[in-house]
Amino acid sequence: MNAFRLAVLGSVVVAVAFAAGCSQDRVGAQTPAAAPPPPHPLPGVTKSLEQLESEMFHVGAGRRLKPPSWPGGNRVAVALSFDVDNATMALSQGNLDYEVLSRGEYGAVDGLPRLLRLLDAQQVPASFFIPAVSALLHPQMVPEILARNRHEIGVHGWIHERLPLLNDEKEEQRLLTQSIETLTKVMGKRPVGYRAPSWKFSRYTLKQIVDAGFLYDSSLMASDDGYEVNLDGKPTGLVELPIERIVDDAPYFGAADGSMPSPEHVLEVFRSEFDVAWDERGLYVLTMHPHYMGHRSRVAALDRLIRHMKSKGGVWFATHEDIARHLKAMLTTGTN
Ligand SMILES: [Zn+2]
Repeated sequence: MNAFRLAVLGSVVVAVAFAAGCSQDRVGAQTPAAAPPPPHPLPGVTKSLEQLESEMFHVGAGRRLKPPSWPGGNRVAVALSFDVDNATMALSQGNLDYEVLSRGEYGAVDGLPRLLRLLDAQQVPASFFIPAVSALLHPQMVPEILARNRHEIGVHGWIHERLPLLNDEKEEQRLLTQSIETLTKVMGKRPVGYRAPSWKFSRYTLKQIVDAGFLYDSSLMASDDGYEVNLDGKPTGLVELPIERIVDDAPYFGAADGSMPSPEHVLEVFRSEFDVAWDERGLYVLTMHPHYMGHRSRVAALDRLIRHMKSKGGVWFATHEDIARHLKAMLTTGTN
């Protein structure tokens, strides 16, 4: 319900209460409370600069972490990542439309196995961010990933809950703890990486993941380079490996009723972003989803992208964890 309808409804409730009060004896009648004013449609225009600063930099970009060189003398670091959401977002919303759920299920049945075969063939590592419920509903996925001895698994919420929508500090903490415990159990080791469901932090998220001891986050996008995340202007030691909608399959392939028809166009964007990262000796983080990217024509496009990267040379293919450890060393040694 929008604010206007709430305000109108509030007025109606007050009017009814007032009318009821009028029909009764005046003794004990109460003055009805005035309806609250509707929220300002642009609250930022009335705030002080100090208030805006505190909101803007509650979660902010700290030190840039661009290393003078990448391991092996390589000129660019490539971090391939897959968010194994499958059907969890729909389930979190109580959406039991089996057309939607089966589209998600495709990620576990065909998408992930096909992508793993590609990564095997190309012998490159990747990081998989898995909502705990997704791992529990398809318990074969985590062993299939870990059997490769090349990949990393990170936290991606309990059931892909949208944290700003949840907007509940205690409940968010409960779900985070439960997610870490579940993945630790199925992986046999504690995950060190975090990616917020839909990349969306609530105002509680950063403190909770810092307190949980994560090495890195990969949900924010204030830079092309890695950086240290600041909380209320103070360094946290948490390494950010930034993502971007440009280098994400979801905006191109995520629409349910057909979206970008040609994987080649998407590949062109991904390739151009990589080419400039290569020129800049920077970091390239690509986000994909097995239930989108795992389809035949799209895996073929990803294969062409990896071949292109290899043909240019000087590429360090690494997990997010390995890259974050490399950048974290800059924080601990004070180099920049
Ligand atoms: Zn996701």
